[in-house]
Amino acid sequence: MNEPKEPAEERPPRQWGSRCEECAHVRGIRSAKGSTFLMCRLGVDDPLWPKYPPQPVVSCPRFECYVPPR
Ligand code: SF4
Repeated sequence: MNEPKEPAEERPPRQWGSRCEECAHVRGIRSAKGSTFLMCRLGVDDPLWPKYPPQPVVSCPRFECYVPPR
């Protein structure tokens, strides 16, 4: 799979019904063609963890709930 390019978005739009959308580790990446991908930042540093997990993720042992800043 060709990896989508920057720019990264802080939070992805909610459209997959995925656990990732509520997770502190996710980033939304928009491709040059305008598609948005969910990137798991844990996969950037951990080669054994998927950088782009197949969506939708229904459960994940490394999920951490995202808390918006006040
Ligand atoms: S830790 Fe799990 S739930 Fe969170 S973004 Fe990564 S794959 Fe998705």
